[in-house]
Amino acid sequence: MEQKNKRFKKRDAILDCVRETKVHPSADWVYARLKPDISDLSLGTVYRNLALFKEQGLITSLGTVKGVERFDGNTDPHVHFICCDCGAVDDLMEIQLPTELTCAAAASCGGSIQSSQLIFTGKCRKCQN
Ligand SMILES: [Zn+2]
Ligand SMILES: [Zn+2]
Repeated sequence: MEQKNKRFKKRDAILDCVRETKVHPSADWVYARLKPDISDLSLGTVYRNLALFKEQGLITSLGTVKGVERFDGNTDPHVHFICCDCGAVDDLMEIQLPTELTCAAAASCGGSIQSSQLIFTGKCRKCQN
């Protein structure tokens, strides 16, 4: 029983950690953040749980940025900007995803669309200066 509770506590801590930040964290980031509080946490546990959350649709993956997979706790459709220099990931909340694009994609593939991602890449303001 004790073991089980501990496992769930870890799971919740990992999920909360991804949901509470806007940095679109990697597994390493989550691990570094939680490790001081959960001393027996392993990086493997973080990886396993993130993969599971992704599968369950609780979080989304942005794919790899500079070779590292990044996650988003905000599963509402929104547009992203990724800086190629520093790897910063930002939400571009004021941009609406064009619904006509989704309709066009559905028409083009002949099936139905489940999700879509629109990601702009470039240099962030900090790296630009
Ligand atoms: Zn940058
Ligand atoms: Zn996001």
